[in-house]
Amino acid sequence: MTWSAAPAPLSDAEFAFRRGSLLTVLGAVLVVCLITLSVQAHWHFSFNDQLMLMLLGVKNAALFTWLWRSPGAFRLVGLIELAIQAATVLIRLYILLHTAPGYHGLGGYAVWMIFAYIVAFIVLPARQALIFSGGVFAALLGIIAAYALDPATDPVMRVGLGNPLLQTTLMHATFIALLGWQQHLHGQFVRALFTARREATLAHLDDLTGLPNRRQLGRWLAGGLETGEPLSVILLDLDHFKRVNDTYGHDVGDDVLRHVAGLLRRSVRSGDQVGRWGGEEFLMLVRGDLGAAQTVAQRLRAQLDGAPHRQAGSVTVSCGIAPARSGEAAHELLRRADEALYAAKRAGRDAVEIAA
Ligand code: GH3
Ligand code: MG
Ligand code: MG
Repeated sequence: MTWSAAPAPLSDAEFAFRRGSLLTVLGAVLVVCLITLSVQAHWHFSFNDQLMLMLLGVKNAALFTWLWRSPGAFRLVGLIELAIQAATVLIRLYILLHTAPGYHGLGGYAVWMIFAYIVAFIVLPARQALIFSGGVFAALLGIIAAYALDPATDPVMRVGLGNPLLQTTLMHATFIALLGWQQHLHGQFVRALFTARREATLAHLDDLTGLPNRRQLGRWLAGGLETGEPLSVILLDLDHFKRVNDTYGHDVGDDVLRHVAGLLRRSVRSGDQVGRWGGEEFLMLVRGDLGAAQTVAQRLRAQLDGAPHRQAGSVTVSCGIAPARSGEAAHELLRRADEALYAAKRAGRDAVEIAA
């Protein structure tokens, strides 16, 4: 039976999202390389272009495999990919404009330049990604300005490339703005989810002691009974607790409840559960038969005995134990545990009774 209440932490989901995004980018570009290489014969790609495509494919296959096999390498793989992307954008543009401008615009590669920004926003936190992208964009503008202002630039080419370069810079700026805005919204969304999850968790915890509350215990109990595996409940009630309040005040009473709750929380075995049932009553769900529950109850009483409260002194509890019968409903099981508890009180308190 699974009694675990905690969902996977949200940071895990965020990490999975970013890692999945980077794997997608690496995989997609690898596929693009393979497609381009397989059809390039028609367009007579230069040897250099073919070599670059092959290197790009090998690089992406290597980074993809690395990240697939070791998720912990996300940041390192991301930073390597980011550095290569940014360097490629700038070097390609520089070579294109300053050494080999062609009459077919900026070439087929130009549309892929924006991937540098996409990778930046996947790998880096929003602010760093924005700064990094701004830096790449500024360098890009510098290269274009140097080309436009260079007296050696062919005037016909300058006019011909004017609009493609303008559209490229505008597209880059638009993309950076869009990615920044998208990350901003993503951050708000993640924070809202965090809050919602925390509140959902708090709805299952008791305010005073921090232990699971009655609602959570009820769910666990119903789930545990459904499995049909051995399950016993121990209902614990503090003895003469009213006296503690009357003698030391309500605040000390509250502190005694926290003291007992802490002790219960520390002593619960993995697989078992304990929570505050209400008032000065606690409920323990034991994954096991009557014998197991008796052992747990005796151990708890011994531990309470050995850890008196610093103001109220020694605290004792009465326990009612009920092992679940096959097909028994939760309320019936709890009723029997309550009767056993009542019997323990009648028997003089600081005692354990077993349900009929
Ligand atoms: P018994 O041994 O028969 O259980 O006696 P008791 O005094 O423990 O039981 P009783 O039901 O007479 O009183 C329970 C007391 O627990 C009364 C109530 O004020 C107190 N109590 C319940 N919840 C809280 C709480 O959250 N804080 C404090 N300080 N007291 C609480
Ligand atoms: Mg009571
Ligand atoms: Mg009591």
